[in-house]
Amino acid sequence: MAVPRDSVTIIGAGPAGLSAAIQLAQHGVHSTIIDSSRHIGGAIYKQPDIAGSRGAPINEKAAAEARALLAEFDHRRPRVTEKLGSDVVGCFPKSNTVVLSCEGKLCTHTYRFLILGTGCHERAQPFSGWTLPGVMGLGGMQTQVKCGLVRPGNRVAIVGSGPLMILAAREMHQAGMDVVGVFEARGRRDLLRTAGHLLSNPKLLMEGLGHLRYCKQHRIPLHFGYGVVAAKGRERIEELEVAPYTEQWQPVRERSVSLKVDCAAVSYGFVPRTQIAQMLRCAHGYDRQAGGYRPVTDEWQRTSVKHVYSAGDTAGVHGSPVAMLEGRLAALACLADMRVLSGEKAEEKAEPLRRRTARIRSFHRAFEYFSHEKPGMFDLLDDDCVVCRCEGVTKAVLDQALEAGVLDINSLKLRTRIGMGECQGKMCSPFCSEYLVSRQNSSPGAVGMLSPRFPLAPVPMAALAGSKEQDDG
Ligand SMILES: Cc1cc2nc3c(=O)[nH]c(=O)nc-3n(C[C@H](O)[C@H](O)[C@H](O)COP(=O)(O)OP(=O)(O)OC[C@H]3O[C@@H](n4cnc5c(N)ncnc54)[C@H](O)[C@@H]3O)c2cc1C
Repeated sequence: MAVPRDSVTIIGAGPAGLSAAIQLAQHGVHSTIIDSSRHIGGAIYKQPDIAGSRGAPINEKAAAEARALLAEFDHRRPRVTEKLGSDVVGCFPKSNTVVLSCEGKLCTHTYRFLILGTGCHERAQPFSGWTLPGVMGLGGMQTQVKCGLVRPGNRVAIVGSGPLMILAAREMHQAGMDVVGVFEARGRRDLLRTAGHLLSNPKLLMEGLGHLRYCKQHRIPLHFGYGVVAAKGRERIEELEVAPYTEQWQPVRERSVSLKVDCAAVSYGFVPRTQIAQMLRCAHGYDRQAGGYRPVTDEWQRTSVKHVYSAGDTAGVHGSPVAMLEGRLAALACLADMRVLSGEKAEEKAEPLRRRTARIRSFHRAFEYFSHEKPGMFDLLDDDCVVCRCEGVTKAVLDQALEAGVLDINSLKLRTRIGMGECQGKMCSPFCSEYLVSRQNSSPGAVGMLSPRFPLAPVPMAALAGSKEQDDG
């Protein structure tokens, strides 16, 4: 099937993907944007999924940014084909084809230029009791609040590390929840060490201080150098045990306190969503500050595979402002590669985007510092603590494999079944990789990445049985 010369395919309708589509449309180039969600906006600008739902509004700044981005996209819509509610579940790199799962059917879509803007997912941190109902990832809990789904609970404690916890405390309080405390694993002294980076962007700093002020005004207690010990309850979480942490995040258990809660939000940062880039055989590199493994890109967001580009959190977690700039950069690279723009013209347009990206990244470096877990976290797991929820693999099983000499993540998968379930290691592999590195005194490079396989997300048996349809690509 002939692929239109000017067509670009974008996977992900978040800030990165939408910005890429806008930039392309500004130069008269048509794009097709694919997203598993039925709405555009991605993780940060999630829109209510249910007509008439009464979710708490997202904070004012995010709402204003979302309005501006969505309005600009709306204006460019005639040059964009939207394939929403379509999950990319596989790729055939040799024929430039991706497999989509949509409304119970599989179909294929052929691309000539492909921009990956698939974002990130939350890093899961196992601890005793973390599988009890009511214990949730902070981003997941925020999503429930933003989308106006069922309120996650009435009394919440927020534990983990990073600036998102303060913003989420505000959002949950605005949604009518009683926030019993925010427990930041880093001490106050660590905060001071980030001052240089924070001062590099006074506007963003003021925004953060605004969230802190809100917490103070509404008596939401903030505890620095404190963290989770365990979640407890019969059918669901009833208590969350927290304690002061040492510099290495070892809980001082004799000083632990129990909080009566009906839910807990846990936040240990984000991991780039790389499965599609891996399937396309893009080269990957490890960057702890950007969330772990991510496709290697040049200054134009080009990956190692010709005509495949990566932008936004999937290329390294740096937040939505950087995602928008990288989306535009990737689009400029496409425009230059398809000779719609000359190299000089593209460079002229790219330079200011790169300068802004560098400035925001410098600010974010302060927060990236927060997402480096310390080894004390590994002591929060009892032997029977489940690590891989899909396959029910416990810490004791991991330890047996390590004692038997397992050194890399794919051998660990074969030996223990971690990452063999529905989520394909999305939840457990960041923790398991870090555990391997720490316990075997190894490096991320030696431990490697889990190899994804088709289908990337569960698809109905009927779809696999033969409802294959050719898309107009
Ligand atoms: C749950 C969650 C909550 C967050 N909350 C905040 C917040 O409150 N404040 C903040 O500053 N930052 C937040 N972040 C981070 C922020 O969302 C990102 O920095 C920003 O949205 C990055 O934009 P992006 O376009 O790179 O990715 P995203 O906005 O994540 O968009 C990626 C899109 O790709 C789609 N996608 C992924 N895989 C596939 C596939 N296989 N097939 C089809 N579509 C696919 C997803 O559905 C998604 O719409 C959150 C992140 C997450 C994961």
